[in-house]
Amino acid sequence: MGIDLGITSLLTTSDGEKVANPKNLQKLHKKLRLAQKSLDRKPDKKSNNYQKARLKVAKIHAKIKDSRLDYTHKLTTQLIKENQTIVVEDLAVRNMVKNHKLARAISDANWGEIVRQLEYKAEWYGRELIKIDRYFPSSKCCSNCGHIVEKLPLNIREWDCPECGCHHDRDINASINILAAGLAVSVCGATVRPSEIYSQKAGAMKQKALNSDVRESRAVSSEQRREDVNYLTKT
Ligand SMILES: [Zn+2]
Repeated sequence: MGIDLGITSLLTTSDGEKVANPKNLQKLHKKLRLAQKSLDRKPDKKSNNYQKARLKVAKIHAKIKDSRLDYTHKLTTQLIKENQTIVVEDLAVRNMVKNHKLARAISDANWGEIVRQLEYKAEWYGRELIKIDRYFPSSKCCSNCGHIVEKLPLNIREWDCPECGCHHDRDINASINILAAGLAVSVCGATVRPSEIYSQKAGAMKQKALNSDVRESRAVSSEQRREDVNYLTKT
């Protein structure tokens, strides 16, 4: 199963299932904002009221942390128990957190912790966890024909492939691509570079296309593939 980690949905599986962020975290964040405001209104740091307000903020922070971790554990245990092979993107979360707009959402989603838990639980339960390179353009690649669109802004949640006309849910399409890329890696070893991963995938798709009735329309030409690889190495 392929997993796409996101913001709109915490995660989306290649089976088409979407898992939302827990609602209680949103409530706790609202509480935290209010408590922080109240703390900011108390300038005298030696006052009792300031200390009370400070403690309240700290308690909410701890609660958020606990509740997030609890939720992540339930989720990863379920995923591992129900699947023999799971493919995720190896995210450079730390780099992304530097982008302040996305920072809260990402730290909430806790992607890094999800991947870490999947890793050790896969070992516990004898499952296979495959991590693919973060440069793989999982969102922009059509999982039906392999066409890569130039741009796909984050606010576009659904799109139609200009090449084959296939209608895609952004996250489900990405998770299907992640699964395909991961299975290609698992066949030829985990050290494959992203461009090679894509070549493998395109190769697999070419094979599939040749075997079906649509051989001339779907086959990926080697020239097109070279262009794709060039595109990949640039982004
Ligand atoms: Zn397509």
